Amino acid sequence: MINIAVTGAAGRMGKTLIQAILETQGVTLSAAVEQPGHPSIGSDAGEMAGLGRIGVPVVEDLAAVAPHFDVLIDFTVPAATLANLKVCAAHGKRMVIGTTGLNELQQAQMQALAMQVAVVAAPNYSVGVNATFKLLEMAAGIFGDDVDIEIIEAHHRHKVDAPSGTAIRMGEVIANRLGRDLSEVASYGREGITGERHRQTIGFSTVRGGDIVGEHTVIFAGAGERLEITHRAHSRSNFAEGAVRAARWLADKGAGVFDMQDVLGLRGQKSD
Ligand code: NAP
Repeated sequence: MINIAVTGAAGRMGKTLIQAILETQGVTLSAAVEQPGHPSIGSDAGEMAGLGRIGVPVVEDLAAVAPHFDVLIDFTVPAATLANLKVCAAHGKRMVIGTTGLNELQQAQMQALAMQVAVVAAPNYSVGVNATFKLLEMAAGIFGDDVDIEIIEAHHRHKVDAPSGTAIRMGEVIANRLGRDLSEVASYGREGITGERHRQTIGFSTVRGGDIVGEHTVIFAGAGERLEITHRAHSRSNFAEGAVRAARWLADKGAGVFDMQDVLGLRGQKSD
């Protein structure tokens, strides 16, 4: 049995993760953590998630519950994720990170801390999105420099970072396949007299509204035709199930940063 702790337990993903853990054999929810002062502190984690009493209280101190869990699943905010990773590193606990929007410095800090413990960090834990990464690699390889590539993403009105971590990863996958440096070719939104489009550009557009769980479309637009590859998430449960799968996979791994391609065994698979 793998003991899992969830930070950001009262968040949209936190509650979905609690449900996924309770529904998965071989894992158990052993700790639920929220930030100090959160109204959910002291409540029962199952009741808070609308699932009935499970006897696990929501607490505010991750270090205090460290003896009780094997793997932490964290979908919070970048600063909290790094603080939680420090606690995991200090106590030798593995960690699954879902938080997006880490800046370059925060990513470097994450890499450094993962020298001490095993970490899975992925911008998207859905199996469909990770299959999409492979399809994008293949399409980019087929079209090469013959098409213009644009990435459009849509999320709910509460999302705080843009473009989504998944859209950025899609751009990285395509840029890597085409031998481009995403930091040089990315164009984040356009306005005014932009001039003609350069073929090397990878464009990003962001939509925010309502309760859209997450949609990504990549357009490969050429002369006389275009290919569109779209992934639509219908609910958060697929992210949560993927994160729990990652936690189970991680349980016997040594230090280092892995991602969902490793968890799904897609890393070495050829896409063309
Ligand atoms: P959310 O509903 O705002 O949940 C975040 C939770 O973290 C909130 O309960 C928040 O508490 C809590 N939190 C903030 N600071 C904290 C701290 N210092 N210590 C402990 N808890 C803290 O957001 P969400 O929609 O669940 O998304 C969370 C993150 O996951 C975002 O970065 C999102 O982009 C990412 N995400 C990733 C995937 C993936 O597959 N990788 C999928 C979906 C979402 P308060 O309410 O008090 O602020």
